[in-house]
Amino acid sequence: MCTSLEDGGLSYLKINNESYKATICMKCKVKSPQVVIRVNDAFCRECFLMYCTHKFRSAFGKSKIIRDGEKVLVAFSGGQASTAMLHLVKEGKSVRAQKKLRFVPGLIYVDEGAVLGHSNEDRQRIIDRISELFMDSGYEHHIIKLEQVFSEEFSDATLLSPNNAEVKTSQERLQQLFDSVQTITAKEQFLRTLRQQLISQVAKSQGYSKVIIGDTSSRLSVALLSSMAQGKGAHIAYDTSLIDDRYDQLLLIRPMREFTSKEVTMYNRFYGLNPLVVPTFTTKATSGASIDKLTETFVSGLQAEFPSTVSTIMRTGDKLSNGKVSMPDADGNTTSPCMLCLAPLDISVAESSALGSVRYTNQLAASRKSDSPTSSADNISASLERSCDLNSYDSSCCYSCQRLLEDMPQPKFLPGAVFSREQSRLAMKSYIEENLLS
Ligand SMILES: [Zn+2]
Ligand SMILES: [Zn+2]
Repeated sequence: MCTSLEDGGLSYLKINNESYKATICMKCKVKSPQVVIRVNDAFCRECFLMYCTHKFRSAFGKSKIIRDGEKVLVAFSGGQASTAMLHLVKEGKSVRAQKKLRFVPGLIYVDEGAVLGHSNEDRQRIIDRISELFMDSGYEHHIIKLEQVFSEEFSDATLLSPNNAEVKTSQERLQQLFDSVQTITAKEQFLRTLRQQLISQVAKSQGYSKVIIGDTSSRLSVALLSSMAQGKGAHIAYDTSLIDDRYDQLLLIRPMREFTSKEVTMYNRFYGLNPLVVPTFTTKATSGASIDKLTETFVSGLQAEFPSTVSTIMRTGDKLSNGKVSMPDADGNTTSPCMLCLAPLDISVAESSALGSVRYTNQLAASRKSDSPTSSADNISASLERSCDLNSYDSSCCYSCQRLLEDMPQPKFLPGAVFSREQSRLAMKSYIEENLLS
């Protein structure tokens, strides 16, 4: 990258042009190349597909985390990456596979239409298409609505035929909750958190101990930079590494982590697969609509000119994630996780830290507000009530989730599962204080 900048990009262009002149596949050295993955790496169709299969399997081989016959839930969103991932799983289970995948796959799709503003017809159309796809696969499958995050438990019966009246009220509750979130950045973060919680709840209730998700390196490099910008630096390892172990008795695995979005698109094109296009919060928005969208525009712009951008970000992220530890509090005890995202709390820091200064600024601002003669009594009581609301989460949420709740005027509408976790934590704490410390 540096040389390219020093000579105004000339050397980069030269290599790039030479690679296009490649007349044979660099792997088999026989066929003519059909895809250029990196500079000097031109593959024919067959070698490219073999390279993808190998890369996918090596993610499992390297980690040796999935045992033979274990149930693994494939999180399917219908997008490019998960379409390729599902196809790779199917190919790995087929008789054609040289070395078969030995786990037992199950599929899950979460319908987020209620918060993304899709009409009921659009939601049904997507669900019909997904269920057709799932039926074809012949694997156990679950299609659930995001509003089911309010369900207290997931039995087979509630998953197969959810109580419609209950779903309707939960849908309103969910929409109300999302409408109250003030920024698109916070909405995206909140949606991710809820989706992951729902998937992990269903996985546990259905006897899965592993979930695989289709995050590509392109997606993860954006997530990495965006997480840092949103104050989630301490949780990068959970959000971007091959294995996310924050959920009790459940591992989230990212086997597509070594794939770029270009490779995934080429894979789907070669196999004639048609991913779904599901509009999201920022589909038609400008590049500055959210931190995620802005970061994505930045990274993809850079990647177009400097093809090693994504891998450089990922390698740097890996170095940062090596220090993944559970964070002890001031007394040296390991604290319970954040009640919202379940990552370890990162808020026991010295007063002189950046977080300390943010807290101090907030306190100062709050005291100024209540001193100001122009503010009415109503205003003061409203802002006090609000700060009490937020203060109650201060000790149970990580820094980034605290920021998220600040953007959400009605956190009391959060799903019960979140609060029951918090309540059991508090009960445990008071039990220990009463019985063991005395
Ligand atoms: Zn070849
Ligand atoms: Zn959190």
